[in-house]
Amino acid sequence: MLTEEQYAAFKASQRRFIWVMTFSLTFFSLLVLVGQAYNLESIGLGLAVFSLILIALIIWSMHGYRCPACGETPRARMWGLGASEMQYSSMVALKPKECSSCGISFAKPAHMETPKK
Ligand SMILES: [Zn+2]
Repeated sequence: MLTEEQYAAFKASQRRFIWVMTFSLTFFSLLVLVGQAYNLESIGLGLAVFSLILIALIIWSMHGYRCPACGETPRARMWGLGASEMQYSSMVALKPKECSSCGISFAKPAHMETPKK
């Protein structure tokens, strides 16, 4: 079980990560849609720079999104049968219930009040 500080820090980094991912996905989807309708070559450089900034944001938010106990990024547990062994997917888990690496529960500490919004 996490301590209150660990839980708060984990939730903050999780929110940041989800926010950055949502924003980036929305941006890139819009870019594809708009790119089909209009010629975006004239602002291509600006788009490329903005995309790079977004990618840097994703890497930064992923870097901060870690298990407070062991420091590993939580991975989605998607088991697949490989040739002879089970394989992990390398997907980052958005709402993990527990750490995929050390197994600590990410549940809210029982004695903790519901945080005010
Ligand atoms: Zn862990």
